[in-house]
Amino acid sequence: MPDFSTLALAPPLQQALEALSYTTMTPVQEHALPPMLDGRDVIAQAKTGSGKTVAFGLALVARIDAAQIGVQALVLCPTRELADQVSKEIRRLARFVPNVKLSTLCGGVPLRVQASSLAHAPHIVVGTPGRLQEHLDAGNLDLTGLRVLVLDEADRMLDMGFADAIAGIVGQTPKARQTLMFSATYPDEIRAASRAYQREPVDVTVEAAH
Ligand code: ADP
Ligand code: MG
Repeated sequence: MPDFSTLALAPPLQQALEALSYTTMTPVQEHALPPMLDGRDVIAQAKTGSGKTVAFGLALVARIDAAQIGVQALVLCPTRELADQVSKEIRRLARFVPNVKLSTLCGGVPLRVQASSLAHAPHIVVGTPGRLQEHLDAGNLDLTGLRVLVLDEADRMLDMGFADAIAGIVGQTPKARQTLMFSATYPDEIRAASRAYQREPVDVTVEAAH
């Protein structure tokens, strides 16, 4: 399997990969990272533990301009636990990129407490669709400068009834965004969501190892 060094990532990302001892790419990373880094939309299907979070985390951090104020990347996750895991991984990947700020927004914490964390102007927001919709409705969150939208565990989010919240959130983002979808399964609803939200997506399907 190829090394991350074949991707010509910025030095702070190479440094983070080195610190994490991530040397060779997993199959989903090998196939999804080149088009994602080119700014293409990607829909990727691979089982849990195959390296999807690291794949979109790298692509997303590579797109952040920390000198620019405003939310540039948004990751939607089905649960608070998953949002916390994704935030942790993105922080690890971004640790040598100066001044990048991230906020995690999920239920279980008072809205106004999170609103004050948004006042610190994060570049990256990770959260659950319900809570993010609440922040948008309350006028706490401005997505007009968004560059990258990630739907992580998209199949689970649809199973949990988040389709309307996702649609509402996507409707407040620029049309010219990059949209990345990750899923462990590939049912018709995922294909329909991809058609609704993505433009000429690159389809990456990694078969389970036997
Ligand atoms: P997924 O989102 O598909 O469930 P993750 O991106 O969370 O998978 O990765 C699963 C585990 O493998 C994590 O502990 C992560 O740190 C590790 N990992 C991911 N990519 C690599 C890699 N290229 N080399 C070594 N470890 C990796
Ligand atoms: Mg994952």
